[in-house]
Amino acid sequence: MPDTAQSREGNTPVSQPIPEIDILWITAGLGCDGDTIAMTAATQPSIEDIVLGAMPWIPKVHLHNPFLAMANGDDFLKPFHLAAAGNLSPFILVVEGSIPNENNKQEGYWASLGTNQETGQPITTCEWIDRLAPRAWAVLAAGTCATYGGIHAMEGNPTGCMGLPDYLGWQWKSMANIPIVCVPGCPVQPDNFMETLLYLLYMASGRAPMIPLDEALRPTWLFGATVHEGCDRGGYYEQGEFADEYGSKLCIVKLGCWGPVVQCNVGKRGWMGGIGGCPNIGGICIGCTMPGFPDKFMPFMDQPPGSLLSSNAVMTYGRAIHALRRFTQASLNKEPSWRRKASKPDV
Ligand code: SF4
Ligand code: SF4
Ligand code: SF4
Repeated sequence: MPDTAQSREGNTPVSQPIPEIDILWITAGLGCDGDTIAMTAATQPSIEDIVLGAMPWIPKVHLHNPFLAMANGDDFLKPFHLAAAGNLSPFILVVEGSIPNENNKQEGYWASLGTNQETGQPITTCEWIDRLAPRAWAVLAAGTCATYGGIHAMEGNPTGCMGLPDYLGWQWKSMANIPIVCVPGCPVQPDNFMETLLYLLYMASGRAPMIPLDEALRPTWLFGATVHEGCDRGGYYEQGEFADEYGSKLCIVKLGCWGPVVQCNVGKRGWMGGIGGCPNIGGICIGCTMPGFPDKFMPFMDQPPGSLLSSNAVMTYGRAIHALRRFTQASLNKEPSWRRKASKPDV
C-alpha cells in the first residue's frame, strides 16, 4: 500500500494517539517462515480482525508481509525503502528468523531481502534491520529464531546467527522507548503473537500502558507460568503415573517432557482455537520458548536429568495417595444407605 504510506511522510510524535500504522514484517532472517504460517491460524484476534479494522480503538493497520502481500517485487519493497529513508512513519518492525553474522566470512552473505538498484547486490537482512530498527515505533521479534537464535543458532553453526536482542542489544529501545518485544515459540503460538501485536496497537492508540516484559523480553502475562502448570496430564504426574511409550494418556516426562521448567502457555491455551498444545496431545515439551533452546534441551527424547529426582519422589507418595483415593472414590460411587428402599421405614 505505497500510496497510503507516502501520504504519511515524516515522524509521528509517539506521545499522541496514532491513527494509522504500518507493520513491516521481514521473514528474511534464517528461518522457515513458520511463524507467519502459524499466525494465519490466530483467532484472538485473527490477522483479518486487525487488518480489516474489526478491533475497536486501534490504529488503521497496513500489513506488509511477503507471504500475505498482494504486491510483489519492487512494489512490495517500496514501503520498506520509504521507511528506511525516514519517509514512512510510524511503523512496527516485525522480524522473523535469526540474524546472521555477516562479518564472519571473507565473501558472500547469509540472508537478504531484495536488491540494491544501484549496485545490483542483495540487501542483507542485517542492513534492513540496521536501517529500519532506529526508525521503528516498536520492534517485535516473532518466533524463537528471531528472539534468541533458535535452531539456526545451535552450537557449531557456520552463520554465527543470533536473536534480535543479541544483535541490537538487550537494553535497546525503540523510538517510542519500547524494549524489543519477544514472542518466542517454534513456531510462535498464533494467538500469543497476535495478542501481543494487539497490545502494541492499543499502546499506539494511547489506551494501554507500557507492555510488561520479563527478563527475556517476553510478555509476562503469556510466559509467566510453566507448561506443567497448565498441562492436561498434570493429574497423572501428581499421582506418579508415567508413560513408558507414546500413545499413552499418562504423563510423558519420562519420554523427555521438559514442561515442569519451561515457561509457555500452550498447555492452557492450546494451539488453534483452544485445541492442542504439545503435551496435551502427546508431544513432549522440548522448551522451544526458552532462550536456552535447543542446545540445553538436547537430546530431546531423553528424560530431563532434573526430573529424575522429582518424578521418583512423586512416584513414592503419588501412588500411595492414588490408592487411597480409589477407596474414597469407591465409597463416593455408592449412594447414601438411607436412599435404599429396604432402609426406609414402613409407612
Ligand atoms: Fe521456523 Fe521455528 Fe525459526 Fe519460526 S522459530 S522461523 S517456526 S524454525
Ligand atoms: Fe508436566 Fe509434561 Fe507431564 Fe504435562 S506431560 S504433566 S507438562 S511433565
Ligand atoms: Fe514449545 Fe514446549 Fe510450549 Fe510446545 S509446550 S510450544 S515445545 S515450549
